[in-house]
Amino acid sequence: MKLTELFKNKKSTLSFEVFPPKTGDGFESVSEAVKKIAALSPDYISVTYGAGGSNAGLAAAIAAEIRRDCGVTPLAHFSCITSTKESVAEYLGGLKANKIENILALRGDLPAGFDASTLTYRHASDLVAEIKAQGDFCVGGACYPEGHPESPSQADDIEGIRRKVEAGCDFLTTQMFFDNNILYNYLFKLLDAGISIPVVAGIMPVTTPKNIRRICALSGLSLPPRFKMILDRYGDNPAAMKQAGIAYATEQIIDLYANGIHAVHVYAMNKPDVAEKIRDNLSAIIA
Ligand code: FAD
Repeated sequence: MKLTELFKNKKSTLSFEVFPPKTGDGFESVSEAVKKIAALSPDYISVTYGAGGSNAGLAAAIAAEIRRDCGVTPLAHFSCITSTKESVAEYLGGLKANKIENILALRGDLPAGFDASTLTYRHASDLVAEIKAQGDFCVGGACYPEGHPESPSQADDIEGIRRKVEAGCDFLTTQMFFDNNILYNYLFKLLDAGISIPVVAGIMPVTTPKNIRRICALSGLSLPPRFKMILDRYGDNPAAMKQAGIAYATEQIIDLYANGIHAVHVYAMNKPDVAEKIRDNLSAIIA
């Protein structure tokens, strides 16, 4: 099913994200985790794409398995930074052959040592246009409620989003955020810029605090005091941190649905136990 149809017809959607193995050796364990997540009957499962397409074949294989063996709609991420017209056509051909009709079109980050002057695709908007020209795909893009780190201002960032939408982007998925007011303010600004396609709220349950402060600093993400207190108090206690991280994410999600956000995407990152707890916490809410 195309995600545009899903967003049109279902009041509250819940989806999960997984990442493919780096090498074929890890395929079985990732596949097992994905099947457990699929058994929770999410509305769709997204599969990330390694920087520079290093494990593109494995990502496509996991997405194909989600549709074929689990009966769940896959959303295949696809980043274009090192792609050529030929490699994009080849990858899209593989997705079509596996009946994968939803793609999250991303620019990706330039891998170290890659010559930027050789780029065919400079922005995700270029990839969105290419995908739309090559088939009947439903295409999403990334958006950043606190701005992309490369954007000089939020207005510039929203201009980048507008170009993606003009290129044919059907929906957006947000980067993680830990304060829902940041999303609500951002949605007003998108509407003000004339952007009214569905926006899926991306929620990250922080269950292992390792690196989270550094990741947030690098990505320009705010850590609200309430969340910092949780990291300070439970960061050294894995079981308590996991419980607190799931509870925090659940609270964010309930607040989002209660305030009229229809689509929530959980960065479950191959953790079926975390996905299951969140699903259970919402059992009556998204029934
Ligand atoms: P773009 O949309 O190209 O934006 C990058 C910068 O350029 C922004 O500052 C933007 O404002 C500006 N810009 C955009 N369009 C234009 C334009 N036409 N002209 C001028 N400036 C423009 N990375 C992966 O490698 N694999 C993944 O699977 C993956 N999944 C992700 C999922 C989500 C939901 C998010 C939020 C990010 C994901 N990323 C992934 C990370 C993403 O690749 C990086 O954030 C990357 O730096 C930017 O990608 P983009 O698609 O947003 O790029």
